[in-house]
Amino acid sequence: MTAGQRHDEPMRLYCTARGEVIPFSPGPVVTMYTCGITPYDATHLGHAATYLTYDVLQRHLRDRGHETRCVRNITDVDDDILRKARELGVHYLDLAAAETARFDDDMRALDVLPVWSEPRATSAIPDIRGFIGMVLDRGFAYQAGGGVYFDVSRFERFGQVSHLDRDEMLRLAAERGGNVDDPYKRDPLDFVLWQPSAPDEPAWESLWGPGRPGWHIECSALALRELGTTIDLHGGGSDLIFPHHECEAAQSEAATGEPFVRHWMHQAMVRMDGEKMSKSLGNLVFVSELRKTWDPRAIRLAVLAHHYRDEWEWDDDVMPDAAHRLKRWQAAPPGDAMAPGGVLDRVRSALDDDLDTSCALRLLDEAADAGQAVTTGAALLGVDLARP
Ligand code: ZN
Repeated sequence: MTAGQRHDEPMRLYCTARGEVIPFSPGPVVTMYTCGITPYDATHLGHAATYLTYDVLQRHLRDRGHETRCVRNITDVDDDILRKARELGVHYLDLAAAETARFDDDMRALDVLPVWSEPRATSAIPDIRGFIGMVLDRGFAYQAGGGVYFDVSRFERFGQVSHLDRDEMLRLAAERGGNVDDPYKRDPLDFVLWQPSAPDEPAWESLWGPGRPGWHIECSALALRELGTTIDLHGGGSDLIFPHHECEAAQSEAATGEPFVRHWMHQAMVRMDGEKMSKSLGNLVFVSELRKTWDPRAIRLAVLAHHYRDEWEWDDDVMPDAAHRLKRWQAAPPGDAMAPGGVLDRVRSALDDDLDTSCALRLLDEAADAGQAVTTGAALLGVDLARP
């Protein structure tokens, strides 16, 4: 059998906005948008988990016979990268270019499939200006203090992705760079679409004065430019659900009058020392460091051993366990196990069931221990056993 002929049932996938596992049955071409990196520091395991999850999803959709168009942006201008460039005394685009190259290197080592398109925020300034014009024209935004703000009171579906109450939204916005104290906002939950630049920051001309884009607008403008008004699936880390994805959905639907996303999929956080792995806390495991000691395929297996919706804790056993698993699979006889009802079918079923990579790995363990070939099944998870 060839790809695309075997699956009668649609795959099922948890949708954050719906709060349940539902069928995910896109057309022949699947449009996916994943929030990419802000290139100011090396790739840590939390990022890797996100991009490996969408990589396995892409592989699985292709195995089911779909064509995938995955867009992953690069945020090469925002508060974080400008602050870091200032600290280092380098131009922010030089910092972005260097860190993007390191990210590409890590992704290549992990065998992450190339994305269909990887646009940079600074490539999208005309699109962003046009997009803000659409939001203003439709009455969902206002100008104040040299900036443009989205007016959440005008958008009734605000909360459709995260389903948080107002207090929780305010708490998270304050914690995640939402500038809730900005005196020009009519409501602290309003968010900036365009902002004046500080004297040492880059600025672009606009109808509303010179400035730079707000945090959320780049993804909406790029998703529209690259993929159209409604996309099949939008992903990212679960810490992006609010405010980032909530604000993206609001401004996109305000601008186009169409649904923005059919399916929201979020990767759970990887924890270390009891806290989410994050740049701000500094509790990070870098992919480039792990690669010095471990086979990149073992790094992939370490991540995929956990279901994407389960938070998990990094500890000293993670990599030795994953390396041991890789050895078990490598010890299995080479070749394909294509028999109906065999391990390959069962791995496909596990991935159909809310992308259960953890179950898929256990199935391959059992098959390898029973002396069956696991090469094709491992390849579905992006693990190339043919390589020495
Ligand atoms: Zn985004």
